[in-house]
Amino acid sequence: MALIVQKYGGTSVGDVERIRKVARRALATRNAGNDVVVVVSAMAGETNRLLKLTNEISRRPSEREQDVVVSTGEQISVGLLALAIQELNGSARSFLGHQVRILTDSAFSNARIRSIDAAKLFDSLKRHEIAVVAGFQGIDEQGNITTLGRGGSDTTAVALAAALKADACEIYTDVEGVYTTDPRVCDRARKLERISYEEMMEMASLGSKVLQIRSVEFAMKYKVPLWVRSTFSDDPGTLVREEDKAMEDVLVSGIALDRNESRFVVRAVPDNPGVAARIFGALAEQGIVVDVIVQSPAREDGRTDVAFTVGRPDADKTFEQVKKIAEQLGAGKVEREEGIAKVSIVGVGMRNHAGVAAKMFQVLGGEGVNIRVISTSEIKISCLVDEKHAERAVRALHTAFGLDGPPKRGQEG
Ligand code: ASP
Ligand code: MG
Repeated sequence: MALIVQKYGGTSVGDVERIRKVARRALATRNAGNDVVVVVSAMAGETNRLLKLTNEISRRPSEREQDVVVSTGEQISVGLLALAIQELNGSARSFLGHQVRILTDSAFSNARIRSIDAAKLFDSLKRHEIAVVAGFQGIDEQGNITTLGRGGSDTTAVALAAALKADACEIYTDVEGVYTTDPRVCDRARKLERISYEEMMEMASLGSKVLQIRSVEFAMKYKVPLWVRSTFSDDPGTLVREEDKAMEDVLVSGIALDRNESRFVVRAVPDNPGVAARIFGALAEQGIVVDVIVQSPAREDGRTDVAFTVGRPDADKTFEQVKKIAEQLGAGKVEREEGIAKVSIVGVGMRNHAGVAAKMFQVLGGEGVNIRVISTSEIKISCLVDEKHAERAVRALHTAFGLDGPPKRGQEG
C-alpha cells in the first residue's frame, strides 16, 4: 500500500466526460489498495477566461482581487471531480487551498508555498476518502487568497507529495511524458524513460513547458520522484528523479527550443564598475527577466558592447528602459532585433565529456546556421540563432547527438 499524489492538468479535466475518466483512474488507484490524493487544475481555458474578465473590468486589476477571481477555476474542478468519484460509489472530499492550509507568501499571482498542514488530508485518508485538492491556490498569513503562477498546480502537487511523504507524485497531462525535443518540431523525438531533476529544470526553463519549473525545484529539494504521464493512455510516462551513473553516460538528453526571444545590444558602453548593475538593475526593477547576457571584452577605447535577450512580451518595455539608461551612461546606440530563437542542448553527461560544444557548433555550421550568441552552463549549451533556421537546427542536432527514434506521423499537439 502506497500513498500516491496524482495531478491532472486542464485538458485532463477539460469536460465532463474527461472528469469522469479521471475519476475512474483515481478510484482504480484507490481500489488497488493505495491512499490517493488528487490535485486538479482548472478546466482547460478557464484560467485564461477568468484573467481576461479581470482585464476587461480593469486595465490594471489589483493583484489581490485578480487572485480571488482566477483561483475559482480550480474550485469548480475539485467539486466536479469529487462528485464524479462519488457517482462511481467512491468516497471523496474536495479541499480548497485554505482548507488544507497551503500557506504562501503574499506575492499575489506568483506566490511561493511556505508550509502545508497535512493533518486534514491524513484525516481524510483515514476515512478512506480520495482527497481532491485545488491546485494553484493558497492563502497568506493575513488570510488573503493567493495563486502560484501559471502552471502552478504542478507545484501544489509536488509540495503536497513532499508534505505527505508520498511514495510517488504522478503528473497527468496530454502528452505521454518528457520528450527529447518537441515532437511537433522533430518527428523523430523520443519519449524519455528517465531524466534527472537538473536536466528537467533546464528543459523547463528553456521553454519545454511540461512542468512548472518551480515544481521541479521542489521535487529536487525534497527528492520526490515525479512521473509525467498521459491521462489518455496507459504508458508509464517519464520518471524525473535523482541523477545516477547511467544518466551521466548520455552526452545529451534533450534539445530545447525557445522562440520567444528579442535581442538587444548596447554599443560602446563605458567600461566602468557598476555599469552592468545600472542596466540590469533598471530592468529588474521593471520585473523584466533577462535571459542570455554577453559582455564583450573592452576595446582599446575603453568601451564594450553588452548584448542580452528578453522574452518578446517584454521587448517594448526593455527598449524604452535601455535607451534611457544608455543615454545616462553616455553609451552608444541601442540595437534591437526580433526573430531570434534559442536552441539548447542539455545533458548531465556534459560535465565529464569534452568536445560537446565543438560538436554542436560543427553541426550548426554544417547546416549553414549562423550562431549569434553562445552561452553555457555546466549541463547546457545555448546558441541564439535566426528563428527561421531554428527548427532545422534542432532536427540536425537531434540526429547528430544520437537522439533520433523511428519517425512518427500524425503527432497530437
Ligand atoms: N489553472 C492554472 C493555470 O492555467 C494552474 C495550472 O493549470 O496549473 O495556469
Ligand atoms: Mg499545466
